[in-house]
Amino acid sequence: MNLGIYLTRSAKCRPDSEAVVCGESRLTYRELDDSTNRLASALMRTGLGIGDAVATFAGNCGELVVTEMAVCKAGFVRVPVNARLGADELGHVLRDANVKSLFVDPAHADVALKVVADLGLDIAVYDYGNSTPGADRYTDLLADGLGDPVAVDLTEDAPAVLNYTSGSTGKLKAAVQTYGNRLANMRKRLMSPTGAPTETDRYLAPGPITHASGMMMLGVLARGGAVVVLPAFDTELFLRTIEKERITTTFVVPTMLNMLMDHPAANDVDLSSLRCVGVGGAPVSPQRLRDAVAMFGPVIMQGYGLGETTSGITVLTYDDVVRGVESDPELLMSCGRPVFDTEVRVVDDAGNELPAGGIGEIVARGPDCVREYWREPDLSAETFVDGWVHTGDVGYFRRDGYLFIVDRKKDMIISGGFNIYCSEVEAALYEHPAVSGACVVGVPDEKWGEAVKAVVVTRTPVTEVELIEHCAERLARMKKPRSIDFVDSLPVNRNGKIDRKSVRECYWAHGARH
Ligand code: AMP
Repeated sequence: MNLGIYLTRSAKCRPDSEAVVCGESRLTYRELDDSTNRLASALMRTGLGIGDAVATFAGNCGELVVTEMAVCKAGFVRVPVNARLGADELGHVLRDANVKSLFVDPAHADVALKVVADLGLDIAVYDYGNSTPGADRYTDLLADGLGDPVAVDLTEDAPAVLNYTSGSTGKLKAAVQTYGNRLANMRKRLMSPTGAPTETDRYLAPGPITHASGMMMLGVLARGGAVVVLPAFDTELFLRTIEKERITTTFVVPTMLNMLMDHPAANDVDLSSLRCVGVGGAPVSPQRLRDAVAMFGPVIMQGYGLGETTSGITVLTYDDVVRGVESDPELLMSCGRPVFDTEVRVVDDAGNELPAGGIGEIVARGPDCVREYWREPDLSAETFVDGWVHTGDVGYFRRDGYLFIVDRKKDMIISGGFNIYCSEVEAALYEHPAVSGACVVGVPDEKWGEAVKAVVVTRTPVTEVELIEHCAERLARMKKPRSIDFVDSLPVNRNGKIDRKSVRECYWAHGARH
């Protein structure tokens, strides 16, 4: 079992076809396969073996794709660190995952080197650029590698990716995706009746090529299509790239969709090459789906999934979306029906399956679903029960099998496609001496879906700006509160805990999120 063999097979069939495009850099399948073999063998020659952790802390670039595929071929564990995380969070991940090698781009090299030095970690740092003192050059490492095919034998349960997200305790935790999970996910994608990649596809990855976007990339490379990677999301660049590169498929989070709709360039670019635009990762409003169909045509799909399920577990297909626009408006509030090889249920607090219409927690099971968090046995036991992933999302099935999400059990805000745990922001606020009580909630935001709002009780005077700056020093930029309300006291529930639900409801017109 090795996902890298699919790349090698594509390279044998179509060596000169384009595999990866990022800015000015273009790699054919032969070049991509050769670079990944070299990188995999060079890393193995530094002493790394199956199961050793290799992290990346970089924006999107062609080298990141090479690193991802090299890690697959050599059977290392990939640790993608979101390039927006701060130094403290990076340090936590590097230590927790026991990272041996770290790849950075020039923009992130200094922070990474400082973290490694400050914590005294024994990690080899490789820079995709040329100029950072203290880091080794990626190009030098590549030159050390041998070009022979690498594809180590792996077992299904060998860890492949540690997918870090903030935990409900405010601490970063990692969902462990195994090589078996990823292979099952890729197969599921290739079997999909809608959106399955083909060899003529040109897939545009606008967001970080980690997580779900990275899984899509693997499917495209297995089929021999091309992956076009945007260095960072920029609305105009995204639209112009669709036209210039004749993009056929892409995937955006709702915030990106909002930005696209409002952009003047949307009217003068040729979008006719698109056959599939996937939207997902956070709730998307029915009106936005209608707007998207008007803009892109009947090619919109909506998917629901989470890191713990590797990618989508339900999908609202193009046909469903069109039916929603034409005759069944309620359907546009649904996130679709379960995908191939995935069971989805709605259960009550005791874990019993509820009939259609019953509201409860959504749970999912399938060969690509994660079984554990990295070194978190208690949390794992709560979330992964008898093979079922407890999503922390609340919803119901309509009689015809469509799933509707109505709320979130977990205290999480999704802002611009990023997950922000309320408790994490609260923990930062409590570190300020003036704060005696804090409750953080997501509030509606037209552009970002939700924005971080803090409601705070203080014991000594402090300003909103001071508290926001205090959080910005401790957290990744997107996690700091956008605004803070000061109150005399916070509501508490029967157990004496701060009642986040009632605080949140003050800011949502109808209580629920849709
Ligand atoms: P992540 O693990 O970062 O992919 O975040 C997963 C969470 O995002 C889910 O548990 C949901 O709360 C939310 N989510 C993902 N996709 C959708 C969707 N299509 N509609 C509503 N919420 C979604």
